[in-house]
Amino acid sequence: MKIAVLPGDGIGPEIIAEAVKVLKALELEFELETAAVGGTAYDAHGHPLPAATLALAKAADAVLFGAVGDWKYDKLERQYRPEQAILGLRKELGLFANFRPAICYEQLTHASSLKPELVAGLDILIIRELTGDIYFGQPRGRRTAVDGHFPGSEEAFDTMRYSKPEVERIAHVAFQAARKRSRKLTSVDKANVLETFQFWKDVVIEVHAQYPDVTLEHLYVDNAAMQLVRQPKAFDVVVTGNLFGDILSDEAAMLTGSIGMLPSASLDKDGKGLYEPIHGSAPDIAGKGVANPLATILSAAMMLRYTLNQPEAADRIESAVKAVLGAGLRTGDIWSEGTTKVGTRAMGDAVVAAITGKTITTKT
Ligand code: NAD
Repeated sequence: MKIAVLPGDGIGPEIIAEAVKVLKALELEFELETAAVGGTAYDAHGHPLPAATLALAKAADAVLFGAVGDWKYDKLERQYRPEQAILGLRKELGLFANFRPAICYEQLTHASSLKPELVAGLDILIIRELTGDIYFGQPRGRRTAVDGHFPGSEEAFDTMRYSKPEVERIAHVAFQAARKRSRKLTSVDKANVLETFQFWKDVVIEVHAQYPDVTLEHLYVDNAAMQLVRQPKAFDVVVTGNLFGDILSDEAAMLTGSIGMLPSASLDKDGKGLYEPIHGSAPDIAGKGVANPLATILSAAMMLRYTLNQPEAADRIESAVKAVLGAGLRTGDIWSEGTTKVGTRAMGDAVVAAITGKTITTKT
């Protein structure tokens, strides 16, 4: 199993170091190879996604990614900005299925802005289509309007579109993911208004015929946004397009209240994937040793489950994270009165200790 390790910028190297430590503690046969990405890669090689990094990512079974970006690169031409590395990797690796779990650990329910009883034990999975929809549809641009409410005025436009194979492949991924959980899938659309999403719904219903053991329901996106804050635990697996998924997955993430806890995966048609925390490079705390490494450690667990076919190893990591939280250890972002504040490294050490069966340290 070859894993490309791309730490990136800001807190990226700090949190990736802890995830690598945890992977090594599992004592499985991994080959880990590190390469530069993002602003760090631009500084060293003149491009945020150097050819050697892309070649490594293509050759690997999975990619473990930290985060990229820093305000100091904001003035660069768009093609050289650190964030272009993620878009480039998605495109070059054909990563079309974005998995965003939103899990609310019992010990962290107070961090949510919702009432504890609504989020305690929350465990939902949002699957977002990542390479189509209005984000990539052509034509797009600016022009002088020839019709509409204000002919002759300047206007901007984008194109929402999905082809049948695009909807079919994300639907298959979602039904298969639902099979690994509670066999319930919610497809989110806007079929009442948008032709693209009536088509989406029709295709999802067609694909459902191959998964009779999975219960399928449909929700309009506005209703889904409401239900996510009204009774989030009613959901299990949610599948939707790129635009709606972008918004709903962030909304779901916020139900848990802690950005430093949430992993994500972006998968290709064969299950190869890029695994990364949902947060960014947090330049405000970079180098201070205070970043929460758990989202990255949990991303490594997702990598074991979804790409490397090592579900027991994934379970070991996830149980270790729960044990560490249960022992009261917290990084600053999730700290509350009565718990023990620890830094990035101590948190990683504690997860390793829980995996190897040693006593969990409470030293900062
Ligand atoms: P951010 O997610 O980096 O940070 C938002 C806030 O959350 C900050 O206060 C930060 O300190 C905190 N935070 C984030 N991760 C944390 C962690 N693991 N532990 C503790 N606190 C944490 O978002 P931002 O500040 O809007 O963006 C910073 C940079 O990251 C920008 O350059 C942006 O483009 C980039 N970014 C990259 C990715 C990515 O690499 N996938 C995603 C989002 C943003």
